[in-house]
Amino acid sequence: MNVTSISHSLDEIRNRITLLESRYHRVAGSVALMAVSKTKPASAVQAAYEAGQRHFGENHLQDALTKLDALPNLDIVWHFIGPIQSNKTRPIAERFAWVHSVDRDKIARRLNDQRPADAPPLNVCIQVNVSGEATKSGVAPEQVCELATVIQALPRLRLRGLMAIPKPAADLAEQRQPFARLRAMLSTLEASGLDVDTLSMGMTDDMEAAIAEGSTMVRIGTAIFGAREGASFGKGSGAR
Ligand SMILES: *Cc1c(COP(=O)(O)O)cnc(C)c1O
Repeated sequence: MNVTSISHSLDEIRNRITLLESRYHRVAGSVALMAVSKTKPASAVQAAYEAGQRHFGENHLQDALTKLDALPNLDIVWHFIGPIQSNKTRPIAERFAWVHSVDRDKIARRLNDQRPADAPPLNVCIQVNVSGEATKSGVAPEQVCELATVIQALPRLRLRGLMAIPKPAADLAEQRQPFARLRAMLSTLEASGLDVDTLSMGMTDDMEAAIAEGSTMVRIGTAIFGAREGASFGKGSGAR
C-alpha cells in the first residue's frame, strides 16, 4: 500500500469508529485506534504516522525492533501484542510503552524487573483466552483475578485492563458474546478495587462487535495496511 492509500484507509477507519461510537451510545472519542503494523515495513508505519497515527502494535519482537530502530525520533507509542517468550522480555520492557499479551506471572515479574528505572511504569493488559481454545495464548478466565493481583503489586508495571482475541464467529451477535464476557471480567476487577480502564478488543473483522461491547482500544491491521502475506507471525497470536 502506498502513502496515499494508508492515509485514506486511516480516514475510513476513524470515520467508522466515530459512527460505531454513536450507534452504540459510546462517548465520542472513547475508542482509541492502534494500527497493527506487523509484517509491514517501517515506511508503512511512517506513512501512517504522517497521517496522524500515534499508537502502533507489533506481535513479533524481531520484526518490531527492526522498525523501532528505523524510526528512532518519532513520538510513537509502541504496543507489544504478541506471544512473549520469557527469555525475550528485556527489549519489550525497555522499548515498548504497552504490553497487551501478559498471560502468566513469570512474564509479569520479568517485565517489572527489566523496566528501566527512568521510564514510566509499563502499561499492561492481561490477555484472556475467552474462547477457551486449547492452542490460544491467554490466561483462563478463572485465573484473571489472581494474575491481576500479582501485576498490581509490581511497581514497574501499571495494570490497565484486559485483552482478547476471540475465535472467529459467524455474525455480529455471536461475535459480541466473548467481548461481553471480557467486559464483565473487567467489571469484576473494578469491583475488587483495581484501577483498570482498558478493554483491548476488536480487529478488522470484529471491530463493530467489540465497540458495541465496550472496547476502549481496537487493534486494526488489515483495514489500514492491506492484507498480510506469507510470514507465519503475520497471523494472530494463536490459531487465527
Ligand atoms: C494481527 C493482529 C491484529 C490485527 O488484525 P487484523 O485482522 O489485521 O486487523 C490485532 N491484534 C493482534 C493480537 C494481532 O496479532
